Amino acid sequence: MSDILIRKVGRAGHITLNRPKALNALSYDMCLAVEEALETWRDDDEVALILIDGAGDKAFCAGGDIAEMYHTGAKGDFDYGRQFWRDEYRMNAKLNEYPKPIVSFLHGFTMGGGVGLGCHGSHRVVGDSSKISMPECAIGFIPDVGGSYLLAKAPGRLGEYLGTTAARMGPGDAIYAGFADLYAPEDTWDALKSQLQSTGDISVLVGQEPPASPMQAQQAEIDALFMGEALQDVLNTLNGSDSPLAQKALKAIQANAPLSTATTIEALHRLRVGEITLRKALELEFRVSHRIMEHGDFLEGIRALIIDKDKSPKWQHATSAVPAVDVSRMLMPLGKDKLDFREKAMKIGFIGLGNMGAPMAANLAKAGHEVAGFDVAGTKAEGTSVAESAIVAADGADVVITMLPNGTILRSVADEVIPAMKPGAVLLDCSTVDVDSARAVAELAAAAGLGALDAPVSGGIGGAAGGTLTFMIGGSDEAYAKAKPLFDIMGQKSVHCGAAGAGQAAKICNNMILGVTMVATCEAFALADKLGLSREAMFDVVSTSSGYSWSMNAYCPAPGVGPQSPSDNDYTPGFASELMLKDLRLSQQAAEGADADTPMGQKAMELYRQFVENEGGQGRDFSAMLPRFEARGRDQD
Ligand code: NAD
Repeated sequence: MSDILIRKVGRAGHITLNRPKALNALSYDMCLAVEEALETWRDDDEVALILIDGAGDKAFCAGGDIAEMYHTGAKGDFDYGRQFWRDEYRMNAKLNEYPKPIVSFLHGFTMGGGVGLGCHGSHRVVGDSSKISMPECAIGFIPDVGGSYLLAKAPGRLGEYLGTTAARMGPGDAIYAGFADLYAPEDTWDALKSQLQSTGDISVLVGQEPPASPMQAQQAEIDALFMGEALQDVLNTLNGSDSPLAQKALKAIQANAPLSTATTIEALHRLRVGEITLRKALELEFRVSHRIMEHGDFLEGIRALIIDKDKSPKWQHATSAVPAVDVSRMLMPLGKDKLDFREKAMKIGFIGLGNMGAPMAANLAKAGHEVAGFDVAGTKAEGTSVAESAIVAADGADVVITMLPNGTILRSVADEVIPAMKPGAVLLDCSTVDVDSARAVAELAAAAGLGALDAPVSGGIGGAAGGTLTFMIGGSDEAYAKAKPLFDIMGQKSVHCGAAGAGQAAKICNNMILGVTMVATCEAFALADKLGLSREAMFDVVSTSSGYSWSMNAYCPAPGVGPQSPSDNDYTPGFASELMLKDLRLSQQAAEGADADTPMGQKAMELYRQFVENEGGQGRDFSAMLPRFEARGRDQD
């Protein structure tokens, strides 16, 4: 019997945790299965909403399955745990950002990982058996899986109380604290689920008046007891009070890992600075998860409470002696190891491994994706496997990327690969092509049940190698969302410009400006030369005056002046003149189709045509227009 049941029932995608003997503890494989189901159902029109529940009568989910994490961590392998947390937190964020309603039925225990799964959806249902808590500090960890987000948003200092004492919330408390939305008696749940399944209509989910919240009644006292800025302040206040609430809280805190408790309080305070978002909370939590096995009390906590069950953990600190610097160390930014919500590895087919495609494909492979490349010229990209044809590269791929010379070749490659692609995959063209070809390919792909994006780039070969390209994208929101993690690897910016063809439209408009400004910059330099102005003076004035542009400031066509550019390398491209001519032709072809008056674009195109076809410009950088103008007089043809 599977640990998790994933199926479509009527209009619902239904996920049931199915390990009742283990209180439905969430394993790594179950996390991945939940994420995959969410991805599959995102674009499935038959699925109007998602239901999540747990088998058995004791628990929705009593937490994450930490046994494997312990066994690997105890041997000094911290990577398994870190990857588990990375993937789990990404799934937590996905639940929260999902475009369809997610209804969770939280019966019995919902703790730790169960909160991450059950409490970030849009409709969280509790009943009389619900017992929700975040008990991580007891095992030397901190409230994670986005628990810190819910705690930071709970009224007053309720979050500090819940996070440091693991106090259990009943249905009234859970709604009051923001961990649940509505109460329904559990004997009505089956009927509610059936209605949701048969109608797909979230409005059939109507709750009843929830039971009173004891925590709400205690809010003023909780605020007073937990108002301190650090663990020591809270301990002082609790010690100074003999109320039953204070004494019970003190006992709970004294059993916890002191470093965990102190870090929890600090994390909640930091989260409340500025807007509280789930991603911000998960990113902060991950700083702790990443370090907790190596530097925290996590392994000792699990050993004492779960493995050896001696219940005598040897924590690193005494409860009232946690130095602030140790807490800061747990919460320090992680740099390159930061949680970035990056998707798990995708299977990518990459067709066209030329000057641009090869380094782009290599960057995807370096980031952990499985890339199969194909180029008619037999070129290869580092870290990728070589497919023997475009069809083989596309077969079974989640995303097929093309980086080809022009629209005609793109159309013929698309004709070939589209029938080989799996349903729901995305065809992502990064070449610069005409808008009509981009739209025609998108139509073909849509007819085959695929997503399609036109995503031309700016940034040249350097940007392709450095992963700093800018992508301008046309296509659907769904296809864009799927490819977004790849844009983040290959580039520094991606702009979703609109529907199919919008990316190419943005690209040719941008490059029409570039062609015109480069011509203008070069002719102005040539004029300045003839007027006896030094090139340094020309650059110094124009780059800080109203004549400035990217062509002047970032790509100065005069050798030895301004920043390093192809002019300093004898005009070796860079961006070749024939590619600029291609883009200007595309702009004029589009202008003609759209009846747009573009005299400057037209003139720039004619100049580049002459340069490439008759004046030796082929193979030279497009800024080599400067020596061309320099060598000419006013009346020359
Ligand atoms: P390139 O000529 O170096 O690469 C194109 C590759 O496609 C070649 O290796 C070629 O063998 C391959 N190819 C051609 N037909 C094929 C087919 N049927 N199947 C498989 N492979 C095939 O060109 P590039 O500089 O890498 O540019 C690629 C695209 O990116 C172009 O559309 C260009 O306009 C655009 N672009 C280039 C730059 C730049 O600075 N080079 C900048 C922005 C955009």
